[in-house]
Amino acid sequence: MDNQSFKNYMEDVVIEVYNDFKKSYPEYCSCPRCSADTLVLALSKLKGRYAVSPEGEIFAKLSREDRQVRADALVMIIEAAQLVAKQPNHER
Ligand SMILES: [Zn+2]
Repeated sequence: MDNQSFKNYMEDVVIEVYNDFKKSYPEYCSCPRCSADTLVLALSKLKGRYAVSPEGEIFAKLSREDRQVRADALVMIIEAAQLVAKQPNHER
């Protein structure tokens, strides 16, 4: 897996997990503005979490532990959604 596919993979995971999250947690605003803010935040947290391991290790880990990556993505999304909910950028 090269850097570009790593990036695409992370983005796909975050978007998929976010779509499930919206169904499970309808109390969080999911307007286009809040969705975009939440996704950007969650994605940067998730990349940061995996960027600490040496590259070869991350890629091996990702192909082995897709479920773990998704679980981590959900945690990051919940944290991001809580931050966005505190200071939403959408119009009132
Ligand atoms: Zn909103």
